[in-house]
Amino acid sequence: MHCPFCQHEDTRVIDSRLTEDGATVRRRRECPQCSERFNTFETAELKLPAIVKSGERREVFDERKLRTSFERALQKRPVASQDVDTAVREIVNDLRRSGEREVPSRQVGELVMRELKKLDQVAYVRFASVYRKFEDVQAFREEIEKLERDLPGLDGLQLPLLGTGKRTPTK
Ligand SMILES: [Zn+2]
Repeated sequence: MHCPFCQHEDTRVIDSRLTEDGATVRRRRECPQCSERFNTFETAELKLPAIVKSGERREVFDERKLRTSFERALQKRPVASQDVDTAVREIVNDLRRSGEREVPSRQVGELVMRELKKLDQVAYVRFASVYRKFEDVQAFREEIEKLERDLPGLDGLQLPLLGTGKRTPTK
């Protein structure tokens, strides 16, 4: 590591110890050129990546928003809130594990779909229909066909269910 005082390109670790909570390593370093000493701290990088929306807009990751997406898709579906907690945690951990500083929002959408698929097929289709509407019509159609093949019981779930739930009454 470079010396922050004289920019010498190497410094020596003269002491290394764990902080009380065990979450951080503190290192005492010394520069062989100017003899200045300084500390460095090493902690696990657990920051969540920023979410890049369409149009390059960046947003801080918001767990509440993620949960809202689940709740919307799962409205009136028989899924326990602990299962939603688990799904949200899975996604948060995946994002942490990725180590990325930025993640496109569509990647988060894919993760939501992955979890919804495990939780509830109807909610999954609801979310996917809204989410993929403009992005990838073909992929969505294939997805529905696949679901219909896998789950013959989904026959009743035809196009009327695929909207946002709000339908203007016909006169
Ligand atoms: Zn120095």
